[in-house]
Amino acid sequence: MRILLSNDDGYHAPGIQTLAAALREFAEVQIVAPDRNRSGASNSLTLEMPLRTFTYPDGDIAVQMGTPTDCVYLGVNALMKPAPDIVISGINAGPNLGDDVLYSGTVAAAMEGRHLGLPAIAVSLNGHQHYDTAAAVTCQLLRALMREPLRTGRILNVNVPDLPLAEIKGFRVTRCGSRHPSDKVIPQQDPRGHTLYWIGPPGDKFDAGPDTDFAAVDEGFVSVTALHVDLTAHAAQDKLNDWLARSEVNYG
Ligand code: MN
Repeated sequence: MRILLSNDDGYHAPGIQTLAAALREFAEVQIVAPDRNRSGASNSLTLEMPLRTFTYPDGDIAVQMGTPTDCVYLGVNALMKPAPDIVISGINAGPNLGDDVLYSGTVAAAMEGRHLGLPAIAVSLNGHQHYDTAAAVTCQLLRALMREPLRTGRILNVNVPDLPLAEIKGFRVTRCGSRHPSDKVIPQQDPRGHTLYWIGPPGDKFDAGPDTDFAAVDEGFVSVTALHVDLTAHAAQDKLNDWLARSEVNYG
């Protein structure tokens, strides 16, 4: 199996390095990753400037200033020959639960893989300690996929509790929960008296019901959510049609 491995924390992050080492026990791995932390980059592409790559002696590639989506786009369409069989993104430092998937560069890298026609998995650790656990879990999933291909055509968003492997209770298929709105802005003064602003942390859990990704990880299970990218609110279509028909919105 040929794996394109990317992330949003950057080439040097412990998550991607731990995962690469574990996957290389049984698969061919090409890293194409941002050269720095691009967390929160979501699905952005760099269109206003060219992208320069740096190739390490082992063949791994860092993309200067590249976003996760840039990396997968370049990896699949230009850098990895022959093309990969699967795109894996992670292991992210911190969870990608509920609404996090909208901002996440980790999930975006997997989305780009899926968009380019490949199976894709995003892996995040609900903390910053047990990367080896998340790597082992990812390897288990990969070996299972090799034995028994999964043809959902969806992205798998995997979140792993930050625990020793022996304390993981198993896998649970979940739906995305949600968070309260994030409202923290941290202002600072620069040396010239101007105010600078830092975006604050994500909001607290809002919908963390028993079938959510939040609940699974809290209870010690690996959360696996199948994601698709169609954000259409099908249940609102009729209401919107009725409203347009009734309203004063007219053309011509
Ligand atoms: Mn990240």
